[in-house]
Amino acid sequence: MSKIFCIANQKGGVGKTTTTVNLAAGLAQIGQRVLVVDLDPQGNATMGSGVDKRALELSVYDVLLESASVAEARQRSEKAGYDVLAANRELAGAEVELVGLERRDRRLKAALEAARADYDFVLIDCPPSLSLLTLNGLCAAHGVIVPMQCEYFALEGLSDLVNTIKQVHANLNQDLKIIGLLRVMFDPRITLQQQVSDQLKEHFADKVFDTVIPRNVRLAEAPSYGLPGVVFDKSSKGAQAFIEFAKEMVGRIDTM
Ligand code: ADP
Ligand code: MG
Repeated sequence: MSKIFCIANQKGGVGKTTTTVNLAAGLAQIGQRVLVVDLDPQGNATMGSGVDKRALELSVYDVLLESASVAEARQRSEKAGYDVLAANRELAGAEVELVGLERRDRRLKAALEAARADYDFVLIDCPPSLSLLTLNGLCAAHGVIVPMQCEYFALEGLSDLVNTIKQVHANLNQDLKIIGLLRVMFDPRITLQQQVSDQLKEHFADKVFDTVIPRNVRLAEAPSYGLPGVVFDKSSKGAQAFIEFAKEMVGRIDTM
């Protein structure tokens, strides 16, 4: 049965989507069966996995509104090596449409139940907000992976997310926990980043992943080719770091 993880951080531009698609590709390369769920109406994880968000017949929107199953709506990305439950702008409407419906925060959880046996990992790319879409992700997940840049306000921003996760844990999903904080876009030459990284380890100890993702331009270039960096340039430092991270994740779930 699959383990389901949200990639979440309420800040935009911190590396959620990059982490989702590259961890997915890294896991696929070491033989894991992976589904990426794009919960962001921007559809970046969709495009970054080589699926055209403008040409979707069915998407995660239809799954949330229960007009399609995961098995019907998912697509295979042959290049990336994993399946994608895609998203586009239509998903922004689901936010509004869900409000009036029953079990509005459990729709994704229910839908994924039926597909769990098909995967080792389900990775949910969340939008940069604590919206009803994110809540669907958090309700469906066993844990949260938090990508973060080691910058001055990083710790402050983290407390909102930690509180939300605590509340979801207490009220909606007893399984939910923070799996770990992933340091991304890291530049060891910047003293401040080293300091924040040290602080993170002091505060969060083994909740900080061992793997560090460096700032690497190949990771930023890959989406314009419709590929995860891990596939686009496997030998790049960024890709290698994500393959390491995939191995670390496999090790962690063995002990979960
Ligand atoms: P989010 O999904 O949190 O909004 P993204 O994953 O889209 O963040 O990343 C924001 C920007 O930073 C993108 O342009 C992405 O290509 C770039 N980026 C992410 N991680 C790295 C990295 N390790 N090195 C260089 N650029 C990165
Ligand atoms: Mg994103």
